[in-house]
Formats: sequence, structure tokens, C-alpha cells
Amino acid sequence: MIIGEVVTSDSSITHGYVAVRGETIAAIGEGTPPPAVETIDHGGKLILPGLVDGHMHTSSSTGWPGIETATRCAAAGGVTTCVDMPYDVPRPVTDAAILADKIGWVERTAYVDMALYGTITKTGGIEAIPGLAAGGISAFKLSTYEYDAVRFPRIDHPTMLAAFREIAKTGLPCAIHNEDQELVEMLTAQARAAGQTDPIMHCRTRPPLAETMADLEIFEMALETGAHVHIAHSSLARGFEIAEMFRGMGAQTTGEACIQYLCMTEDDIVRLGGRGKCNPPFRTAEEVERMWQALLDGKIAYVSTDHAPWPIERKQSADIFANGAGLTGLQSFAPLMFSLLDERGLPPTLMATYCAEQSAKLHGLYPRKGAIRVGSDCDLLVLERGEFTFDEAAIQDRPETRWSPYHGRAMRARVAATVLRGNLIWDGEQVLAEPGTGRFVRRPPRG
Ligand SMILES: [Zn+2]
Repeated sequence: MIIGEVVTSDSSITHGYVAVRGETIAAIGEGTPPPAVETIDHGGKLILPGLVDGHMHTSSSTGWPGIETATRCAAAGGVTTCVDMPYDVPRPVTDAAILADKIGWVERTAYVDMALYGTITKTGGIEAIPGLAAGGISAFKLSTYEYDAVRFPRIDHPTMLAAFREIAKTGLPCAIHNEDQELVEMLTAQARAAGQTDPIMHCRTRPPLAETMADLEIFEMALETGAHVHIAHSSLARGFEIAEMFRGMGAQTTGEACIQYLCMTEDDIVRLGGRGKCNPPFRTAEEVERMWQALLDGKIAYVSTDHAPWPIERKQSADIFANGAGLTGLQSFAPLMFSLLDERGLPPTLMATYCAEQSAKLHGLYPRKGAIRVGSDCDLLVLERGEFTFDEAAIQDRPETRWSPYHGRAMRARVAATVLRGNLIWDGEQVLAEPGTGRFVRRPPRG
């Protein structure tokens, strides 16, 4: 039995309780709870569904050993389900055999539950799509932009079109990294040639048009093929408007925001340098306001972190183009989302909606995950409200990835406890789970 203020996507019960039987939720109620073998009183604290982070990269710099340390951060951050991207070193998840290997790593080393994305190779690989879907991935991920010809390739239009036709048959969503390669390459070459390598040039060489041109291409192909095509990260409200426009024409088109696009601005990359480099880049303060309006208008599918724990030595070059792109964000996710909402006078129910329920739904994991409902896995995030400061030294990852773009930020809450399938895995001070506590969460077959 867990007592506290129970916050779901549509209600908040001030004197509430959640009863656990085994790994699942047996009852939810208000007032005096029924007798229980054990009662944990979090009176005055908020009890939310454990967060479902629909977008992260545990293994893009370390390979699969990164699963263990990234999911330790998740446990400490109240994130009970991680949906991990497929662009791992030395090879991405492009067929059922590689997927099975990665699932083995999840089952042996993860601290929290994980769902997985699959992808295709740069040329071909489409024949592996049914096997990946049958293997239980929750979504596919492809890219219009190439970071690496093997690990993170650009998929050309004919191949992407063929992939969408095959993915449409599986019913799974396909998330797309949305940036126009030619535009970004040309602008970057011009900046380099002019010796302009200071942080703001990261924003200038990846302008809004580089995103929206990619959005239009992938959505035209969504309309043509019937595939559910999802923008993996829109830093622009316009991305969500375009998705809505295509939905109006009968396409299945959605987009997600990462939390950094709800708070960071171009001034922050100037302040942070390489530590503030991510793709797409931070935008203007006005755009951040438009993003919030899109969220409040229900246009955003869900909010994720795009957690990508590069070692700090990859984030410290004075030449902005020499730094790795990606931020850490798993452990700061819950306190930051709560703070951003609270600073705007918005309720934490929106956090239950956009950081748990909606992401679980898009990945086919709801209501097992992302919900405080009878029969759901008892995955809970307990937040203590107050005045706190985010300290990167407390990050539960390996030493070289204990850095955060939010270091020193005032937070209005901290994660006081995390519960995974009925078990306390973080007590506010220490991770109590073991590697292998987490499980692979298979997306259930359709129907
Ligand atoms: Zn990403």
C-alpha cells in the first residue's frame, strides 16, 4: 500500500492510495486505505505513473554496456520504462538476431523496463522488417540525415518509401530523425570555410527550414503508404501543425517534443557550448512559447528526453562542430518537467499525460505501462515538492557521463522514490535495484 497524492492524466486525489498485489496495481482510492501487509506513507508527496521515456540512446557511444548505466539514471529519475533507439555501436538493430542479442543485454543488465526500436540498413534491409516486428519492437526509426553510414545512416527516398510500405503492414509507428542533409551540409561547409565555429553557428547551420522540409517529405510518403510516420523530435511548433494538416488529409502523422525544446533557447547553447549541442538545435524564446501552446492544444504526441550520454570529453571542444550531438536528460526529466509546468501554473496531470500515458500509448505499451490503473504494472514516480538544485554530480551514470545541461538549475521537486512493478528501486538516496531487475517489454501484437 502506498499513500500520497495520486496524480493521473485526468485527476489528482489529495489523500489517495495505491494498493499493490504482486507486480500490479490492485486498487486505487481516496481516504482511509484498506488494511495491508505493508504501508508506505508518502503523505504530502505526489504519486505519478512511472515515466515512459519514448526516446533515448543508451548505446550510441558505448554499445550495449551503456544500457546498464543509463537505466540506473532512469531508476533514480523515476523513469520506469525506457524506449531505446536502435543506433547502437558497433552495429544498429537491423534484424531479429541482433534484436535478440540486445534483448539479452536488457534482461541481464537493465535497472528498469525497456522497449526497443528497430531500424533498417542504409541499402536494403527491408526484408528484415517483419522479423523485427515479430520480435516485439515497439516502433521503427529511420533518418533523413546521416551521422554514420552504418550506425545512423540517411535513408534515401526510394528506400524509405519501400520501408514505409512494409512497415505499414506491421501497424507499428516509424519515428524519423527529421533534418535535411543537403541544406545542413552546405551551411556547415560555408560556416567552417568562414572560420565561424562558435556555438551559435550550430543553430544557424540547422535552421528551422532544415526540419520542416524533412517533415514534409516524410509526411508525403506517410500519406502515400498509409504508414504511421512520427517526427522523432520537433523543435518547432510548425512540425506539429504540419502533422495535424496531414492527419486532416487522412495520413497517420504525429510528432514528439523533447523536453529541451520546452525550455532551452539559443542563448543556452551560447552559455553551454558543446554541452548544449543537440539535433535539432535549441530555438528562440518565442519558439519555446509556441511549443507550449502546441502542447496545451493537444498537438504533441508526447514529451521525451532524447537522452544521449556522450562522455564529457566529446562535449568540450571550442569548435562547436567537433562536439557530439546529444544531451543527458534521464535523471533530470521528472524534476524538470514538474518545474516547467509549475512555473507556468500548469498541473502535474499534464506530466502523467505527456511523459507516461501518451508515450506508452504510441509504443503500444498502455495500459500495462504509463498508467495508474487497476491491473497496470505498479510503476510509480514519487515526487517531493520543495526548493532543490539539480546537481550533475548526483547522476547515477559512469563518471565520464556525469554532466548535465541543467546543472545548477532550480527545481521545484525531486524524485523521492521510484517503484518498478511493486518494488522500490530508488529511495531518494540510492538505487536499490540490481542489473537485470529490468525486463524487455514486448509490444503486444495487433488485435
Ligand atoms: Zn534521438
